[in-house]
Amino acid sequence: MARELIQAIRQSRYLTPAGTRNAFNALLLVLCLQWLYACPEKTIIPVMGAQPYDWNPYLFWDCPWLTNGEKHKGIDIIKKYGTPILASTHGIILYSGDLGKYGKAMIILSPGLRFHLYGHMSRMNRFVFPLVLRGTEIGAVGNTGTSDCPHLHYTIFSPLPDFRLFEKNNSGWLKMFFLNPHEVLTQQ
Ligand SMILES: [Zn+2]
Repeated sequence: MARELIQAIRQSRYLTPAGTRNAFNALLLVLCLQWLYACPEKTIIPVMGAQPYDWNPYLFWDCPWLTNGEKHKGIDIIKKYGTPILASTHGIILYSGDLGKYGKAMIILSPGLRFHLYGHMSRMNRFVFPLVLRGTEIGAVGNTGTSDCPHLHYTIFSPLPDFRLFEKNNSGWLKMFFLNPHEVLTQQ
């Protein structure tokens, strides 16, 4: 009986190397999500040494250089090329790579189910495990993608709409899904 049981366990597809790895990854993901859920959301300015006067708070939504009614949906933190970019919150790196007009970009999921986009980076640090703590250096300020000068484009997106932000105009509904990083970074 014992021998049959061992045989059955050995033959189980869950105990193949790939199956074990998948189960391990799933467990790790669940633990990470739990960790994110339990973490308080505190946000720091994501460029080393930057202060609120390093970005224009009025350019969060409407931006003079964007045409066709496109909205900016973020702030541009202007700092010297190569200045370290820091994770503004704890989080999981969901994406790290080329993202069209945002150039070299990273998307990090933080507590409160918020997605933080870091764009125009000159370089991106590599992580063996995609978990970052608030203040971890993730890359450096650059000029990649559609950008005229070295800066960090920083957007905070929430899949849970804030209905108070709804506006009766063309892209007013979109506003419900984006937090104003200026407010998030300065009102804590
Ligand atoms: Zn921008």
